[in-house]
Amino acid sequence: MTKLNPFEIAQKQLDKCAEILKLDSNAHALLRVPMRELHVSLPVRMDDGSIKVFQGFRVQYNDAKGPTKGGIRFHPDETIDTVRALAAWMTWKCALLDLPLGGAKGGVICNPKEMSQGELERLSRAYIRAIYQFVGPDKDVPAPDVYTNPQIMAWMMDEYSKIAGKNQFGVITGKPLSLGGSAGRNDATARGGIYAIREAARECGVDLEKATVAIQGYGNAGYYAACLAKSLLGCKIVAVSDSKGGIFAKEGLDPDAVNEHKAKTGSVINFPNTKAISNEDLLELEVDILIPAALENVITDKNAPNIKAKIVAELANGPTTPEADEILYKNGVHVIPDFLCNAGGVTVSYFEMVQNFYMYYWDEKEVHERLEKKMTLAYHSVLNASKKYNINMRQAAYVVAVERVVEAMKLRGWL
Ligand code: GLU
Repeated sequence: MTKLNPFEIAQKQLDKCAEILKLDSNAHALLRVPMRELHVSLPVRMDDGSIKVFQGFRVQYNDAKGPTKGGIRFHPDETIDTVRALAAWMTWKCALLDLPLGGAKGGVICNPKEMSQGELERLSRAYIRAIYQFVGPDKDVPAPDVYTNPQIMAWMMDEYSKIAGKNQFGVITGKPLSLGGSAGRNDATARGGIYAIREAARECGVDLEKATVAIQGYGNAGYYAACLAKSLLGCKIVAVSDSKGGIFAKEGLDPDAVNEHKAKTGSVINFPNTKAISNEDLLELEVDILIPAALENVITDKNAPNIKAKIVAELANGPTTPEADEILYKNGVHVIPDFLCNAGGVTVSYFEMVQNFYMYYWDEKEVHERLEKKMTLAYHSVLNASKKYNINMRQAAYVVAVERVVEAMKLRGWL
């Protein structure tokens, strides 16, 4: 299979939206490409004394609505086109949640699983040194994403603050709680998705207490989604997976026990009393809710016809190809599109920025309430647009988000 280029997919999705909205051609042209992108080479001292040069990117897609915002991924298969697509999706995500932010994304080509903590720290600091001029609390604010975490955010914040000569907690979000992080940031991506699933279940007539769930990916998003789908929604988690494979248990899994097993063995596979399944099998299981929470392009025209879930909740960015989208829509599958479903992360990141500016911190209850309000509102604005224009949920999310960005660009006099 030829590898799908995520940026071409993002552009295709935008083109469709431009058609629905009869978008002005200049607005369309401006939104089709990133406003700014940086390519950096990072020499890093490895533990054996040698120097290794890593390639990194930061794409600032559009800042019409405010400082750009978006995570940093450390991944061996990172490409500039993936980062561009993700930066575009961040732009739509922030607009859809009505955050006063634009969209960006960063990436470094590396394999963190093969690096020591010292090597990771030196790489993180080198990356921030290289992009120092272009980021800042009111310019561009990074955050965690695939294979980056609060510790990495702490190193990056520290490096930036050292260069600036003052503490600059607001330069990055997803920091540890004791270092300017926000309560509720850890499970925010999953929690936001859970609120969206709750609304979708109401819309689709799915009884959550009786619903079964399969989750692809068991990182930050997948693990917390499993916990919250069980504890908040009362669903049964029958299958989960990670990059090494998946497990199935008809009677349901205990998400914390699976997580402990993964911490000990490095994977969810071989968890006692479960059946081994592949990542591909997991997507086609007879479940009510399917949550792709790993990487891009896993639901394609090949497997979309076999998807039996009533609701597909995209916690991952870009898990469904445009061809697959059409098949799911035709088959009546209710898709909660990525930049709606996983927007909880950036929403609480925004709350973290607000708290950093104020130097005053909210408790977890306050964060959860504010997140719930934002996600519920965003879900219904998408659902309403989908009914108004008779389009699928992804196109509807685009319509709402793009209209807001275009309005900002017009008011600023760009168009
Ligand atoms: N990486 C997350 C996302 O894709 C969070 C971004 C952020 O908090 O800025 O939405």
